[in-house]
Amino acid sequence: MFEDIPVDVSPMYEGERIRAANMFVELSGPKSIGAELVQVEENVEDGKIEVIGPEISEMDQGEIYPFGILIEIQGETLEKELEGVIERRTHELCNYIKGFMHLNQRDQIWCRVSTEARDAGFKFEHLAKTLSILFKEEFPIIESIAVTVLTDKEKVEKFVEKAKEQYDKRDAKARELTDEDVDVFYGCVMCQSFAPTHVCVVTPDRTALCGAINWFDCRAAAKMDPEGPIFEIEKGNVLDDIKGEYDKVNEVMAEKSQGTVDKVYLHSVFEYPHTSCGCFEAVAFYIPELDGIGIVDRDFKGETPLGIPFSAMAGQCSGGKQVEGFTGLSLEYMRSPKFLQADGGYSRIIWLPKEIKDSIIEYIPEDLRDKIPTEEDATSIKEIRKFLREAEHPIMERLKESKADKEAEMEEAQPEETDQDEVSEFADVPVAPVAYAPEIAMPTSGGVKIIFKNAKIYAEKVIIKRKQ
Ligand code: SF4
Repeated sequence: MFEDIPVDVSPMYEGERIRAANMFVELSGPKSIGAELVQVEENVEDGKIEVIGPEISEMDQGEIYPFGILIEIQGETLEKELEGVIERRTHELCNYIKGFMHLNQRDQIWCRVSTEARDAGFKFEHLAKTLSILFKEEFPIIESIAVTVLTDKEKVEKFVEKAKEQYDKRDAKARELTDEDVDVFYGCVMCQSFAPTHVCVVTPDRTALCGAINWFDCRAAAKMDPEGPIFEIEKGNVLDDIKGEYDKVNEVMAEKSQGTVDKVYLHSVFEYPHTSCGCFEAVAFYIPELDGIGIVDRDFKGETPLGIPFSAMAGQCSGGKQVEGFTGLSLEYMRSPKFLQADGGYSRIIWLPKEIKDSIIEYIPEDLRDKIPTEEDATSIKEIRKFLREAEHPIMERLKESKADKEAEMEEAQPEETDQDEVSEFADVPVAPVAYAPEIAMPTSGGVKIIFKNAKIYAEKVIIKRKQ
């Protein structure tokens, strides 16, 4: 079937990583542009393959190029609603190709071709051919398929625009429904190949954290393939409608995560947040010093107020882990009225990148729009605190109340006197975890190992001493 393809094609290459040292070229990604799009069309010429722009053989080693993959499909029972789900499989199927690495989804794709694949004669026409074979194999309802690979800069720019319009249409449709309007949610375990305990719960109000699959997409996918990776979850009884806890969702989480996670709050970063695979568009993270929540997306290049970039944070909370204080989410979820509602929604958000803020500004309550700083206003905790105080962000009230509670508690407990010179500016912050770690292993003797899962480190005060 793959006789004409000069490299191996098999699911065993799915985890292959192409590092800079053995990379021939990079395609799309953070330093360029690109997108992937599946469209259900009429009159698709089956087997048609086209490459618009330079082929791999015409590219220069170590360079980064714009990149687009357009997949047009036709089939008697193919519904438009299946586009999102079929498109999401592009990630997995591209990664079957030895020497081709594909990350992320939609207009966030980031690909690499290895030097070894280039030397073997691998070209984009082979990528297109492989995809057309694999997609027909995976989805027998596809009767005709045509694949176009774009690398010409202008053509890719236009293609990305068109793709974004299509993504917007899909997302806007999902916004018409709320969690209360439906009796079933959906689960997706497509990412368990690299995050074995991760289960996405997709509801009308909570689009999948990869941002590529909404409730309608899941409904169409579950109908097409009830035994597939996307399945129906009966809502069952609501245990907490603000946190977004449902008894049947908990049951399914326990079953599909092999017992690792048996409780999940869909609309909170605290206690039992949604698990995170690694495909999330953004991460919500708790900032203990200010008792607020920050958001960072994968396009943001700088450091977050926690002092680490997106990539390091993603490393801490991905892989299917449930880590209190962190949750992966889609940017679309930030448009939902239920966005982290148990934590206070936007009134608890105290930092986010400007690009995200601009893209969702109309969904932020009007009275909060000027009160949430971006990297242009503040980056350190100290600067954020100053900004929040001056902007009269509601979190400052919350901090005062917590401080009053804490002082009352302290009075009752008759605390020891503190050396004021040593206490940092954070000393008036309420007791809150100052650090989280998904796992801490303690070295011990006697042939045993002690592992703390989801460890939270609390400190009654934070003392910062200048080094002598
Ligand atoms: Fe499915 Fe979630 Fe992975 Fe998206 S992130 S493909 S919804 S498991």
